[in-house]
Amino acid sequence: MRDWRHYTENSRIAYFSMEIGLTTEIPTYSGGLGVLAGDTIKSAADLKLPLVAVTLISRKGYFRQTFSETGWQQENPVDWRPEDLLELLPGKALVNIENRDVKVQAWMYRVKSPTGGELPVLFLDTDIPGNLPEDRKITDQLYGGDKEYRLKQEIVLGIGGARLLQILGFQVRKYHLNEGHASLLTLELLNHHRLHVEDTWDERASWDTRRVQEKCVFTTHTPVEAGHDRFPYELVERVMGAVVPIELLKELGGREELNMTMLALNLSHFVNGVAKKHGEVSQALFPGFEIHAITNGIHPFTWASPYMMTLYDKYLPGWANEPELLVRVDNIPDQELADAHAGAKAYLFQYIQETTGISLDPGVLTIGFARRATAYKRANMIFSDPQRLLKIGDGRLQLIFGGKAHPHDEHGKQMIQEIRNQTAVFGDRLKIVYLPNYNMDVASRLIPGVDVWLNNPLRPLEASGTSGMKAALNGVPNFSVLDGWWIEGHIEGVTGWSIGPPPTETTTDVNHTDEDVQDLYKKLEETIIPLYYHDRPGWLSVMKNAIGKNAYYFNTHVMMRRYVTDAYLH
Ligand SMILES: *Cc1c(COP(=O)(O)O)cnc(C)c1O
Repeated sequence: MRDWRHYTENSRIAYFSMEIGLTTEIPTYSGGLGVLAGDTIKSAADLKLPLVAVTLISRKGYFRQTFSETGWQQENPVDWRPEDLLELLPGKALVNIENRDVKVQAWMYRVKSPTGGELPVLFLDTDIPGNLPEDRKITDQLYGGDKEYRLKQEIVLGIGGARLLQILGFQVRKYHLNEGHASLLTLELLNHHRLHVEDTWDERASWDTRRVQEKCVFTTHTPVEAGHDRFPYELVERVMGAVVPIELLKELGGREELNMTMLALNLSHFVNGVAKKHGEVSQALFPGFEIHAITNGIHPFTWASPYMMTLYDKYLPGWANEPELLVRVDNIPDQELADAHAGAKAYLFQYIQETTGISLDPGVLTIGFARRATAYKRANMIFSDPQRLLKIGDGRLQLIFGGKAHPHDEHGKQMIQEIRNQTAVFGDRLKIVYLPNYNMDVASRLIPGVDVWLNNPLRPLEASGTSGMKAALNGVPNFSVLDGWWIEGHIEGVTGWSIGPPPTETTTDVNHTDEDVQDLYKKLEETIIPLYYHDRPGWLSVMKNAIGKNAYYFNTHVMMRRYVTDAYLH
């Protein structure tokens, strides 16, 4: 194995993300944001792009989800040993937290592509002898603790990460901030680019914001104002001190509070949302900034089931590194596609039998829904009218759910409990499964094995929604509210089906829940169930279109090429 130093020989894109999901064994992610980061890095490796990724080690992971007797979520620490999977790099950075020096070190994981591409991911860690016990815990818990804990993590990620890259000898041509959590790195860069003019510490003129902007690319993921990280200046001054003069910080990060999104917006030359619609929504949220759109993707080789891989290898060789080839899906004989999907379905049902003891019927139309359990995703929406659902689905439908609620999200936990309790209401007439501990491993079994992938978020809160792309890649059509990527991927009755009205609004002021619910039932009853049971060729054609008209395009290879041409090369 080559020495890690060879990664420092050429200048790189430094990709910063609070969470990165590369494999289930490295549990340093909570959901879509982290999995997207992992998929991005894997495509960068496939495409041999010069990139180095930086994140936190999250030694206790996010959490492992189990359930009490009453269906209430229980959070358990995830035990993993970084030293079994990662290499400790020499060199330590110091960051100032509450007026003391805190040491930061990095563990490295090498992402290796079959193309020969290879790149490093650095996991930052403060669990080092010599740091105070409380400081050793800063990189323990992803999204754990209070605002103060979060700010400390963001100091380690942004400032510690930038310093450590320099200490290790990495040359950075661009910094890519995946969401605002790493925005503090801009302050470190401001200090690097301080102009050598004769003036005092707080002269505005001595801070070269333009040089920093040229270096930074910012991707925002959150379509509501309230979702952006903010810190009171009292807390910032106490915990972080004055990395730059406070007046300058207020000018760049907001007068009232330090808003990490504002800081990133003010110090990046390229800013984008993660789907076309999300670009518009973000533009409305931040007038005065130019917001572009680069639609998210998924990493094809990671998310195709073994059954689909075999099929793609046979009929579309080279598809994994050239997913555009999926456009030629019609070369696959119908029966072989049906068999491959049946294989994935049987594999999933066996897994469900083993983990929950519930046996499902492979002949029954099976709908999947799994993502973070949070209010706007409305996981329980299909149960709005249980009588109607039973009438439509009696003996004809099975539902499989999954997803974790954030430990502080009571509403999310109630939603899960409500779904788990439906099992008893419907009994064997309409089987319902809630799979525990949704993670990358569960996702890779669940998504390819269902027949339809359901998504019914409150608009416009689904910035992108990448799980639907994983479904499409496996020939599983989407049935979704028109939000995020689905606005771009949806052709009614061709690639899948929409739920509710067309996407015109850019705020949550209008709530279409009733319309959405009615449309969900109506399409299930009149379109999807009849097609599934009475028109196999018609059904297979929708499956193929999901692959040939969605998956060929909505992947991280296409996405990364856009980042290169639109953001990194400018
Ligand atoms: C893909 C993925 C997600 C993202 O799902 P969305 O539908 O975009 O919310 C979340 N969690 C896991 C484990 C995933 O694999």
